[in-house]
Amino acid sequence: MKCDNTMWLSKLILDASDNNWCTNISCTTCGCFPFKEELAKILKSKAVRFSFSHMQPELIEEENQILLDGLRQLGDGNSLGDTKKHSRTIMLLVYICWHNYSDKNSRMKMQESLKDTLSGDILDKMILHYISSTVSRIEYDHWLSPNQVAFRRKKKKEEKQRKHLILMERQRIRSELWHNRYKISSDLYNDILKKKDEKI
Ligand SMILES: [Zn+2]
Repeated sequence: MKCDNTMWLSKLILDASDNNWCTNISCTTCGCFPFKEELAKILKSKAVRFSFSHMQPELIEEENQILLDGLRQLGDGNSLGDTKKHSRTIMLLVYICWHNYSDKNSRMKMQESLKDTLSGDILDKMILHYISSTVSRIEYDHWLSPNQVAFRRKKKKEEKQRKHLILMERQRIRSELWHNRYKISSDLYNDILKKKDEKI
């Protein structure tokens, strides 16, 4: 298969949809093999050397550059029609490209190259998702750490003690009031009488 036109990637994406090829990044059943195989065929026809494995697609720089160019040339995804329908496939392609750029510099260049395109938007979302899930994982690990568990246990104990003290204090006041009720009522009575006297 020879694809020299600049729209080779949108053709592949539409083919994937027409043929119902699995493009689920995390699929462990088929590993998106039919789709990756087709991508491999196209890149092989375009690059000088080809290396591509089933589960872990490894592309040489030239192949990855072709894929990156393809992703950029998708632009706003007009040629795909309903872009939402194909976002999963684009996500997989972006992931393959990102994965093959292992160093920070190349990844930054990839982001720069895809700026203001559909693929770029999808890449940004994937990075954000990755960051937020990494942050929640770190937070969760921290929450589970022995120090944190001990800290929470201590706080819970302190809170229990505090509530207990408040309850005891309330009971003490209540019983004091009860014991002194005659005194209080007589004091009150005297007070009222006093006020009445003042009025006369
Ligand atoms: Zn699958």
